[in-house]
This record gives sequence, structure tokens and C-alpha cells, in this order.
Amino acid sequence: MSKDDYQSLNKEIQDTIPVKKRLFIGLILLTSFLLCLLLVGLWVVPYVGLRQIHPLAPYVLAGLLGLIFIGIIWSSLGLVLSIILKKNVLLAHKIRGLTIKFFLPLMVGVGRIFNISKQKVRASFIKVNNELVLSSSKKYKPQEILLLLPHCLQNSLCDKRLTYNIYNCEECGKCPLAGLIKLHKKYGINIAIATGGTIARRIVVTTRPKMIIAVACERDLSSGIQDTYPLPVYGILNKRPKGPCLDTLVPLKQVEKALEYC
Ligand code: SF4
Repeated sequence: MSKDDYQSLNKEIQDTIPVKKRLFIGLILLTSFLLCLLLVGLWVVPYVGLRQIHPLAPYVLAGLLGLIFIGIIWSSLGLVLSIILKKNVLLAHKIRGLTIKFFLPLMVGVGRIFNISKQKVRASFIKVNNELVLSSSKKYKPQEILLLLPHCLQNSLCDKRLTYNIYNCEECGKCPLAGLIKLHKKYGINIAIATGGTIARRIVVTTRPKMIIAVACERDLSSGIQDTYPLPVYGILNKRPKGPCLDTLVPLKQVEKALEYC
């Protein structure tokens, strides 16, 4: 890709289509509703038989299930209200882990029933995760932030080896790396390129950041956010005009905006 090609392509993707948060809200409410329905079913069915064991047994079970019921309603409402109001409601940032570990896999399953692709659910999850990360209103020092990038951002015709030393980049401007390195210098944050999940984990262990801004596809970002929890990860989706893993792009404005927030 020539410098001109790259620049015109990059200009096009700056006008990125916003990912719909409605999908996440709809799925989380539906998942919670189905779970609550399951709990009601679990209570009603043994109710008939439990009385035979002890007269109070149905009430004990109802109390236990009621607590789980309230927990599900509280966590899903807290999440939805935090997304809508764009601030931390009902301690939603504390339950980011619950969304990551519990709701996301369930939502992918529920989405499948309604023919909603994994990619869409994951993109929506990343958007919500970002808002939860920002709603904690924590500010980080530049040296505590790691900008983690995928290898596929590098121009496929470039022969510079960047994985172990990003400064091998000559900042020629034929791929997004030049702009990203400029942001790294401007803000004084850490920057690294990973060729896969294992190297990404190794980079996180060695640099020990307190906050990660990661660029990747829906799959890698959502699994990275899950793997590194409770470390806050702000995810930015790459653009793939040539298909997956080849000469990918990233809206630099979006990266800079994330840096300003953090
Ligand atoms: S900006 Fe850096 S990585 Fe990208 S093509 Fe030029 S030298 Fe290679």
C-alpha cells in the first residue's frame, strides 16, 4: 500500500460507524429475564415436593433463590443505567467482572438463538466495557498506561522488525504505526506490538501497566479484556479493509481521545 493509498483509506475510516449499545442493553435484559424465569421455574417445581420434607423448606429455598434473583436484577440494572446515564450507578464498575465473566458468554449464546453474530455481540460488549472503564473516573500517569497494538497494523511490505523494538520503525507514514509512535512520544505512554495472545500476556507481565489501551479485532479484544481482568482495558477496534490480519488500520483520533480520557 502506498503512502497516498494509506492516507486516503485512513481518512475514510476516521468516520467510523458507531457500534450500537442498544444491542448490549437488549441482550443483557433478555439474558437476565431468561435467568429469572429459570429461577422461578426452579422454585415452583420443587415447591410441590419440598413441603413433604419440611413445611419451611419451600420458604428457605425461595429466600435463597430470591437473593440470586435480586443479584441478577441489581447487576443488570446497574449496568444498563450506567450505560444510559454514562456514570457509575449502583456500583456498576465493581460488577464489570460479572459482565465479563458471566454475562458475555451467556449473551453470546442468547445472541446465537436470535441469529446475532458473535462479532456484533463482542463489539457491543467492548463498547460497554469501555464506558465502564471510563465511568470509574480514574486518572493514570503516562508511564502506567500501555498502548498494546496488533502486528497486522504494520504495512505488510515493510521489512522492519518491530515486535521487540518498535523504534525500528522509520515512521515513513505508510501505515498507522508512524502516527501511533507519535502519540506515544507526545503522551509519554508505553507502547508495544504483540504478534499474538501469548506475547501480549508477556508484554503485560513485563511492563506491569495499570491501564491498557488495546487495538485489535472483536475476538482478540474481548478475550484480552477477559484474560487481563481486573486490569482495566480500553478496547479500540481495528479496521480491516483488506480482510483480517492484513494491513489493518485504526482511527488515530479514537486512540488520542482514549489517551486524553485516561
Ligand atoms: S510507518 Fe514504520 S512500520 Fe509502517 S511502513 Fe513505515 S517504517 Fe514500516
